[in-house]
Amino acid sequence: MLVVMQRDATQADVDAVCAEIRRMGFEPVPMPGAQRTAVGLVGNDGPVNGSVIEAMAGVAQVIHVSKPHKQVSREWKSENTIVTIAPGVVFGGESVPIVAGPCSVESEEQIVLSARQVRAAGAVALRGGAFKPRSSPYSFQGMGKRGLELLALARRETGLAIVTEAMDEAGADLVAEAADCIQIGARNMQNYSLLKHVGRLGKPVLLKRGMSATIQELLLSAEYILAEGNGQVILCERGVRGFDPATRNLFDLTAIPLVHQLSHLPIVADPSHGTGLRAKVTPMTRAAIAAGADGILVEVHPTPDRALSDGAQSLYPEQFAALVRELKPIAAAIGRRIAEPDGTAAERAG
Ligand code: PEP
Ligand code: MN
Repeated sequence: MLVVMQRDATQADVDAVCAEIRRMGFEPVPMPGAQRTAVGLVGNDGPVNGSVIEAMAGVAQVIHVSKPHKQVSREWKSENTIVTIAPGVVFGGESVPIVAGPCSVESEEQIVLSARQVRAAGAVALRGGAFKPRSSPYSFQGMGKRGLELLALARRETGLAIVTEAMDEAGADLVAEAADCIQIGARNMQNYSLLKHVGRLGKPVLLKRGMSATIQELLLSAEYILAEGNGQVILCERGVRGFDPATRNLFDLTAIPLVHQLSHLPIVADPSHGTGLRAKVTPMTRAAIAAGADGILVEVHPTPDRALSDGAQSLYPEQFAALVRELKPIAAAIGRRIAEPDGTAAERAG
C-alpha cells in the first residue's frame, strides 16, 4: 500500500500516517518527492485495509500496490532509479555505461592489461571475478582475496570502477571493501540470505537473472535487497536455459522492456553469458542497446584462447573496441549515449 499525501500536507500529517501504519503492525517508509510526499507500507504479505488512513488529515490517496515485488515496482516509484557506482558511472539515466573485462582475475599482468585495454576502448568499469561459481569443483575457482587486491590495483592504475562477484556473505564483505559494485551471479539469484546480507551493506548490487528464473522471480529477489534498505540495485539479463545447445543460453532481450515497464530499477545486458559464443556477442550487444539496456556487461580478455574461464565467449580487445564504436550511433538513435570514460576516472587513477 502506498499513501500519497496532499501537496500541502504538514510534517505532522505525515508523522500521524506513519504512526498509524506502525499501530497496524507494519513499517512506514516515507518517500519525500519533488511535488508531494508518499508513505509506503511494508511488512504485509497480503491486502491491507486502508480505510482508516484514507480518512486521515493530509492524505490525498491510498494506492494498493498489486505487485508482490512492491518496492521494486513502478507503482511504488514511477521515476527511474539512478544507480551511481562511482563518479561518472551511472546506470538508469540517459548515458549507458559499458562494463568490460575478463571472466576471471587470473594474474596481476592479465587484469591490469585487461583494464588498460577496455578503458582505451571506452569501458567505464572493469568486470572480473575473484570468486568464481564454477559448474565443476575441479575448474578454476578464482584467486579469491588476492584477486580482489589485484582488482583494486587495476582501479588505481586506470581509474575504472570495479564490478565483481560475491558468492557468500563473508565474500560480500570483502567485495564491498574492495569494489564499487557487488555482483550476485545467476546461480545465487535466489540465495536469500546472501541477498539480505548485501541489502544491509549499502553498496550498489548488480543482480543477475537466474538461469531458470522468471522475470517476477528476478524482481522478487531484488525486493529482498530493497526490503533491507538498499535501493541501489541494477538488474542484469544474462540469458536463460533454453532447449537448444546451439547457444549457451537463450538471451531474453524482451526482459529489458518488460523490466522497464514493471520496475523503476535499471537493467543491463550481458550478451557474453547470454550467447556463450564470441561471434554472437557483437550482434547481440548491438541489439541489447537498441532494446534499451541501461548498461552492458561484456567479457573481454587479452588472450581469450588462454583464458582460465569463458574464453570461448570473450572478445579480443580489438573486437571490443570496434563494438564500442558501433554502439554509439545505435544509442544515439534511441536518445541515449554510451558513457565516455571522463576526466574523473583519470583523476581517480592518480
Ligand atoms: C560471470 O559474470 O562471469 C558469471 C559467472 O556470470 P553468471 O552468474 O551470469 O553465470
Ligand atoms: Mn564468465
